[in-house]
Amino acid sequence: MVTAEEHLLDRAREAVTAVADPEIPGVGIVDLGIVRKIDQRDGVIVVTITPTYSGCPAMSVIESEIGAALRGIGIQEFRIDVVLTPAWSTSWITEAGKKRLLEAGIAPPASATPNIPILLQTPGPGIQCPYCGSNDTNKVSEFGSTSCKAYHRCNQCLSTFEYFKPF
Ligand SMILES: [Zn+2]
Repeated sequence: MVTAEEHLLDRAREAVTAVADPEIPGVGIVDLGIVRKIDQRDGVIVVTITPTYSGCPAMSVIESEIGAALRGIGIQEFRIDVVLTPAWSTSWITEAGKKRLLEAGIAPPASATPNIPILLQTPGPGIQCPYCGSNDTNKVSEFGSTSCKAYHRCNQCLSTFEYFKPF
């Protein structure tokens, strides 16, 4: 038997999981590891979040999007707890999140690069290009659209891409 409370919690999890990062369309805040947990205390849905490093997605935007998602499924009783310790790390990005970053044309943090078919890889010193898999890339700018990303250019396919710096 699923109790009404469990059902509510499941729906809350589903709604929050669907919230995308405001600065990385298509990549969810759960997949990025920003949402630490979603539980229920005394009938109130509690969403615990940890901000990414400074300069990254505005937490106020994320908080209001979480609120809108919960209200959208009829949940009025909720609280958003912001926890700063331990600090967010790129290692919290899930496997699904890394794949979505690649699909969005953003190279995931180097320590977190999912497997790109070996045939597509070429040796080189650079960050792997999310479009063609080449490592023959150069950094063109330390800062991308946000300070957590840098711009790199691929010398093989000539794409410019953003690299999500490890943290
Ligand atoms: Zn390329």
